[in-house]
This record gives sequence, structure tokens and C-alpha cells, in this order.
Amino acid sequence: MTTGERIAGVIGYFLSKGVKPESELKYSDQFSLLVAVMLSAQCTDKRVNMVTPALLKAYPTPEAMSKASANEILHFIGSISYPNAKSEHLVGMSKMLVERFGGIVPGDRDSLESLPGVGRKTANVVMAVGFGLPAMPVDTHVFRVSNRIGISNNARNPLQCEKVLMANIPPELCADMHHWLLLHGRYVCTARTPKCEKCDIKSYCKYHGKKNKQ
Ligand code: SF4
Repeated sequence: MTTGERIAGVIGYFLSKGVKPESELKYSDQFSLLVAVMLSAQCTDKRVNMVTPALLKAYPTPEAMSKASANEILHFIGSISYPNAKSEHLVGMSKMLVERFGGIVPGDRDSLESLPGVGRKTANVVMAVGFGLPAMPVDTHVFRVSNRIGISNNARNPLQCEKVLMANIPPELCADMHHWLLLHGRYVCTARTPKCEKCDIKSYCKYHGKKNKQ
């Protein structure tokens, strides 16, 4: 089976389910999405969702957050991973939004990646989820699942994986495919023991095909 056939099969399956995939992070606008995604690095969405309501109630806009100190932010996000660095980044990001972008979250990669604490993956999530642009955030789940299914040409790193996926997935489906692969990795194609017997896309999966030949 070719990479294109595997991708078409996987997309066909998820489209046939008719469910519009959504981020499990809670957010209400592009700023709160950016904040949540920055907090989610090396942390679960569940834990992020526990801290963002109070944080964003206290600092609902870039202007408000830009006036906070890192210590004040830390008070709200102390229970998540890397709280000190993330507090600094949130204040720095908010200040730059106010000073350079008129208090508005930009939708292009270069501007997003110029913000403190915003790397390629975070920028991709904001572009795809917040702006509906064709972008493919590759996190640990998307990377693992893509390699197992055999749709990333054995990519060695997330950037390679992103490029192969972007080249093979219709642009209008990139954001959905990101969510499909991520959720599939979180609940079915789990890191240690993928639940292949329960997996509905196993007929397109290279890993499953190989395993069954042994
Ligand atoms: S068949 Fe197994 S390895 Fe392949 S995608 Fe499904 S769960 Fe993952």
C-alpha cells in the first residue's frame, strides 16, 4: 500500500465517522488558545484546563497579562510543568503582543514564532485551530501514530513528519487530521501498548500489517 493510499484510507475512515474533531484544551478566543497551548507543553490538557479559567479571568487580554509580574502568573499556574519558565513566557508574550501587534494574536508563522515561548508546534496549533489555516502541529502522539501507520516516510523528527504530512494531506483537512491523529494516539494507538485489536484503521496501518505477518 502506498503512503497516499494509507492517508486516503485514514482520512476516509475519520470523515465517515462524521465527527468534527476539536481540541481538548478549553479556550474562548485566539489569546486564550495561545495561552493554553503555551501552558500545554510537556503537560496534559486536563491539567491545563484546571488552571486556565482562573488565570484568564484575572488576565483576560494581552494588555491585562502584560501588566502582571511573572510571580503573579506563577500563583495561578504553579501546578503545571515548568511553571517558572512558562510564567516568564506568558508575560513576555503578552508584552510583545501589545507592543508589536496591537494586542492582537497574529495568524502567520513568523510573527507567532517571534513571541517568547512560542515554537513551531505552538505556532502550528494556533494557526490550525485558532485561524483555520492549513498547518500540521506534530506532537508526540501525531509523530508516533504517523510513523506507525506509515504515512510519514519514517520521519526522524517532528519537522520531517510535518513536511511529509503537509505534502500529502489536502490543505483543508490538515487541522482535522492533526486532531484525528492526536486523539487516536491518546486513546487507541497509545505509546506502550497500542490497542490494535480495537483500532478501526488497522487495515491501513503498516505496523499492524507487519506484526500480523510475523
Ligand atoms: S493498528 Fe495498532 S499501531 Fe496501527 S494505528 Fe491502530 S493502534 Fe496504532
